[in-house]
Amino acid sequence: MRRPHLMLALPAALALAACGAQDKADDTATAPAPDAQAAHAFSSDITGADFGELVKTLASDEFEGRAPGTAGEDRTVEYISAQFERIGLQPGGDNDSWYQTVPMVETTADDSTVLKLATAKGTRDLAFGRDMVLGTRTGKPQIEVADSELVFVGYGVDAPEQDWNDYAGLDVEGKTVVILVNDPGFHAQDESLFDGNRMTYYGRWTYKFEEAARKGAAAALIVHDTAGASYGWDVVKNSWSGAQFDLRPQDDPEPRLPAQGWITGDVARQLFADAGLDLDAQIQAANKRGFKPVPLNAKVSFDLKSTVAEKSSRNVVGILPGTQAPEEAILYLAHWDHLGKHEGEGDTIYNGAIDNATGVAGIIEIAEKFATSEPKPKRSLVFLAVTLEESGLLGSKYYVAQPSIDLAQTVGVINLDAMSVAGPSRDFVVTGKGSSELEDILQTYAGQQNRTLVEEGNPAGGYYFRSDHFNFAKAGVPALYAKGGNDLVEGGTAAGKAASDDYATRYHQPGDEYNPDWNLDGVVQDLEALYGVGRTLADGDRWPNWYEGNPFKAARDTARGEAGGAP
Ligand SMILES: [Zn+2]
Repeated sequence: MRRPHLMLALPAALALAACGAQDKADDTATAPAPDAQAAHAFSSDITGADFGELVKTLASDEFEGRAPGTAGEDRTVEYISAQFERIGLQPGGDNDSWYQTVPMVETTADDSTVLKLATAKGTRDLAFGRDMVLGTRTGKPQIEVADSELVFVGYGVDAPEQDWNDYAGLDVEGKTVVILVNDPGFHAQDESLFDGNRMTYYGRWTYKFEEAARKGAAAALIVHDTAGASYGWDVVKNSWSGAQFDLRPQDDPEPRLPAQGWITGDVARQLFADAGLDLDAQIQAANKRGFKPVPLNAKVSFDLKSTVAEKSSRNVVGILPGTQAPEEAILYLAHWDHLGKHEGEGDTIYNGAIDNATGVAGIIEIAEKFATSEPKPKRSLVFLAVTLEESGLLGSKYYVAQPSIDLAQTVGVINLDAMSVAGPSRDFVVTGKGSSELEDILQTYAGQQNRTLVEEGNPAGGYYFRSDHFNFAKAGVPALYAKGGNDLVEGGTAAGKAASDDYATRYHQPGDEYNPDWNLDGVVQDLEALYGVGRTLADGDRWPNWYEGNPFKAARDTARGEAGGAP
């Protein structure tokens, strides 16, 4: 999930990396370069050995944490396309190549930038990383803001269908808005507000900045709280440090703020206190319908300098053409990018083994099973390894705007992100469970494995909005994001919780590394079931749809209608 501002895929219900943290020494650090190793003999079946080999390689130090626009990218996309070629897929990218070029803008904010706060109690300098993070998506090398008035706008939501507008009657032109993360239903734990404890898109930090931009604010600052964000300040700090990536404005027309960022809970509490306000009381007020924006009797000034460069990254696209309906396709998806490597002492490489070498390894294993199976599938299969997920789901956003196979002809999307490596589980977590008929098909295969479909453990985390399937869903394509759960066959939910707690300490940290001790029987089961879903669709003529009432169904019905097909 976006480097800077984007945190992704910390699967709350995830059973995770093997217990018993390993130190760097015993894994990839000493492994010879991938191409120098004795070639691994891949089998045509989905196996733990193959999966492990792929994850070990993609998460090795040689891949340098797979940051877009780096040597790590070159090594990664070449490795993935070599696997697609080995399997016998056909190139599905630009000009019959394996790659779809994704133009991007790389912006690196000067982390000596200071936010100058002038309050009734005096002035205070907020330091980058310690007190705040700040950046710009405008592509401008300098953004200067002087004496911009600070206004608290609650959750910063304008949701007509919820009869809720935190900006009602307020002109924020030139002002800096201070916004709470998540949505009213969460902090109030009130099931009648929004979607209760399940985060709606209004709760996502991306929505907050998009709405503040639509309203014309000069800048927006989100107040960090670990429960509301479902990750700690260090994740925010890590993700906003260094290069940030974005699509070019011409490829992504959504309005953009001159500057956007986060402040720590402590800084917010002091800011409110200086204005004679109590942050907790203001949060209570923001939880109520009819909330009115609150001037904070303070001003902010900053001179944000950034280095800006136009670059490009690559999606990798492999296709297995269908034998009877090649124009129709099932799409398997996984992001290959991660956080790269950072300055500093000790372990500075973010290997991204679970996030998301496991997903990439998963689509390669599933592709191999399809490509070697007889009879060959009637409909086509697209295997898409996208870039820039950690920077805002940008690679998938770009593919959705420029698909290799028309989205109206894309039967369904199956996303693999941060698969479980904790061993076989009795449950199968469907993020956003209750969304589409794809779940009915998955239920069949999970049932054959004596497993039960369950919803993600922490719906308040908004995980449905934090991985690449979301861009397809927004375009109406039924999308499934599922993986093994926490109720482990060996050790039950206690073992599952231990595994996810362990992963939470490695999430978006250098410690997310390959571990040869992982029990991969569980992920093999998951991949078999996800293969099954694609197989059922690829051999038939079904058009699974969203369930009635789902916000994405209308877009699908329209697209299918226009394609002359039945919804
Ligand atoms: Zn991820």
